[in-house]
Amino acid sequence: MLLELKKVFQNDGESISVDYDLPMNDVEFYGVCPFKTPVKVHAEAKNRASLVDLKIIVDFIYTRQCDRCLKLLQKPMHYEFDHKLAVSLMSESDEDYIETPDYKLELDEVVKTDIILELPAKFLCSEDCKGLCMKCGKNLNEGDCGCDKGSVDPRLEILKQLID
Ligand SMILES: [Zn+2]
Ligand SMILES: [Zn+2]
Repeated sequence: MLLELKKVFQNDGESISVDYDLPMNDVEFYGVCPFKTPVKVHAEAKNRASLVDLKIIVDFIYTRQCDRCLKLLQKPMHYEFDHKLAVSLMSESDEDYIETPDYKLELDEVVKTDIILELPAKFLCSEDCKGLCMKCGKNLNEGDCGCDKGSVDPRLEILKQLID
């Protein structure tokens, strides 16, 4: 989605907004694509006293395994991002601004970067997820597997005897 911002930059109070679906099924996060359905994007650029603000609101379904029990989860996500736009930057240190040469902005790249930076590094089905049994691999949220959790791995047992 290419935003044409010339009118917005040149007129105080002027604004434009767009709503569209952005497919992100080519984006990988930790080796898998968590975006099975398109991201719903609402973006609004508004001229406020000759400065142009860009507000981005996204809604999407985040599909990812729980880090502990590996259950596949689908979580609705809602993020909002604010940026300032400038036709040209005064210096490299203007990190808050996005440069929009020729009054044009390729919105898709901004949205993708915003989302990827915001995605949680850790993802659990619940804060107290019990995870998987280290011995039999059963999901312990679904009940106990009956394995003896107190016993030590036999290889460690041998080590222990050697040390003793
Ligand atoms: Zn879990
Ligand atoms: Zn078990």
